[in-house]
Amino acid sequence: MKTILSQDAANFPGGCYQIILNLAQPVSLAVARLGLLRFPPGFYIYTGSQQRSLLKRVERHLRPEKKIHWHIDYLTVHREFRVTYVLLYPGSDAECELHRSFQKMSGARELHPGFGSSDCRNKCTSHLLYLKTVAEEQLGKWLEQFPSAKLIRIEPGNTAMRF
Ligand SMILES: [Zn+2]
Repeated sequence: MKTILSQDAANFPGGCYQIILNLAQPVSLAVARLGLLRFPPGFYIYTGSQQRSLLKRVERHLRPEKKIHWHIDYLTVHREFRVTYVLLYPGSDAECELHRSFQKMSGARELHPGFGSSDCRNKCTSHLLYLKTVAEEQLGKWLEQFPSAKLIRIEPGNTAMRF
């Protein structure tokens, strides 16, 4: 499957992003040095940053086949995890603040210490949050505070990003 971008990925600015994945049934998964992790059904919000080409990075996350490099890759290649939303924050370099304020706003929890935060300079416990449910209205409301942010809905079976 190929991800089709509706904008020129190379010319899109850098920034931060959040990828929201849905899991319908429990999964136990060995993730690098973190060992065997249990993932209950629900939603997982991963916050990352790519200061050169935001869309190229997001396109990589949406690709189901790739060489595993980051912790999040274990989820994005797993058939039970499905990316449902991508949030883009062009021009932002505050990934840790985004992660922490999203947690405060939504009551999301960090289930797996160390997940996605190996190279975090602000000593975050992880860069992956867990929430039982995520509503699109909730995301829209959250994004109102970021005028240049974009919410992309990823349709099932279609990794094309349209916005
Ligand atoms: Zn951090």
